[in-house]
Amino acid sequence: MGEMLLVIDEGTTSTRAMLFAPDGKCVGSRAEPLTQSYPQPGRVEHDAAEIWTKSAACAQAMVDLAGGADRVAAIGITNQRETIVFWDTATGEPLAPAIVWQDRRTADVCRALREAGEEAGVQARTGLLLDPYFSATKIAWALENWPQLREAGERLAVGTIESWLVWKLTAGKGRGGCHVTDATNASRTLLMGLGSGRWDDGLLDLFGVPRRLLPEIVDCAGEIGRTTLFGGSIPICGLAGDQQAATIGQACLVPGDTKATFGTGAFVLTQYGARVPASRNRLLATVAWQLGGERAYALEGSVFVAGSLMQWLRDSLGLIATAPESETLARGVADNGGVYCVPALSGLGAPWWRAEARGVISGLSFTATRAHVVRAALEAMAHQAHDLKTAFAADGADWQALRIDGGMVANDWLAQDLADMLAVPVERPAFVETTALGAAMLAGVGCGLFASLAEAAAMRGAVETFAPAMEATARNRRLSGWAQAVKQAIRD
Ligand code: ADP
Repeated sequence: MGEMLLVIDEGTTSTRAMLFAPDGKCVGSRAEPLTQSYPQPGRVEHDAAEIWTKSAACAQAMVDLAGGADRVAAIGITNQRETIVFWDTATGEPLAPAIVWQDRRTADVCRALREAGEEAGVQARTGLLLDPYFSATKIAWALENWPQLREAGERLAVGTIESWLVWKLTAGKGRGGCHVTDATNASRTLLMGLGSGRWDDGLLDLFGVPRRLLPEIVDCAGEIGRTTLFGGSIPICGLAGDQQAATIGQACLVPGDTKATFGTGAFVLTQYGARVPASRNRLLATVAWQLGGERAYALEGSVFVAGSLMQWLRDSLGLIATAPESETLARGVADNGGVYCVPALSGLGAPWWRAEARGVISGLSFTATRAHVVRAALEAMAHQAHDLKTAFAADGADWQALRIDGGMVANDWLAQDLADMLAVPVERPAFVETTALGAAMLAGVGCGLFASLAEAAAMRGAVETFAPAMEATARNRRLSGWAQAVKQAIRD
């Protein structure tokens, strides 16, 4: 058996494959962009056939780089969560577009269910809120509106992206594939009981999703199936949704360990251990992983606007030429000059959940410069993280340190500001592709290269620590300035 680990990291804007050595060294990667379709305002779709073809091509390139299928010990898959695929089990072809996590077409259904008083019960059973983000209402919408799905009858299969990829990887000539989903992806559908790890009959009835369409829920590591598509037989041994994989890739294995990914948006997950979390502060409860039938849980908070604020400053306002220029500008002024930016450009996410809130730039005077506005925009990242930390602490999961990753954390000024405002050490690993790394760790555990996730965590490698250094008065001034600005953003 080979010892290389092949990861398929299927994202929203691109899919890619990466090859890892067991010591965590990334030996190579290949990415392909994915087509986004916006058939109507609020609707976002993908072509599942394109996702498969491009993912398979990237994987083949990595198998070639490894020197053949027998050099690869196992495949790990990580994926955009909540996105839902509909396919024909006889032909193995998609029957309809994939409905993407960003799609809002079921906003009215969710509102109606909330108004009917269903949210508390749904949250207690799933850890989630009634929002179109999650898969269940997307599935029900498709069954009602796409007649070809009903016409397919017994041949229709439904699954999230990892489920689709495993089916395609394991299907053979004239033979269907394995229809499975892992517990982390299943925990984002609104259909799985968080405590039981099983599809919940009450939820299936509430959302109108027949159980027979759904995959079997399996562990995140172990031999899930085998593929013979790459010139030999390779086991698929790791599966996890992208944010859970990043949590594992950041070695957040002990309750309290927390990671924050600052990409287009920001996602924070805190490891909660074996107890099912029950948030009283509008955070989500989710499965961190399932191994040997045992689940570890996490609390999750998502912020809608993070790196996209830099893109907006660059593309819509023209205040910066590149995202990294924000760091030079922020360093060029002594402070924010009283300017605050609340980036509620598409409403405010956790812990506020105010879809109707809109962005604010406050505190402007004639002394304010471009640098102050850009600095305020960067400072908004630490302020949003601080609001989340407060909510996590109120839910009994305060952070003692924060492990960061994602495209934005290349910005040293931002990393230091996070440490200063959160008043905890901030750790940045040298290798920031934590999502792919987490999937490699799961695959390594699943194929027996490692005895446990704790052993696999050595793959994470070196980290750089940013220590808090801001004086209390400056920090308090920032916190109260931000609180004022948020009030303006959510004013009814
Ligand atoms: P995603 O995975 O969501 O596509 P990435 O993790 O690749 O996003 O991060 C890209 C985001 O990070 C972009 O929105 C970009 O504006 C931002 N970004 C990249 N470099 C910097 C930087 N040096 N300072 C601030 N923001 C940055």
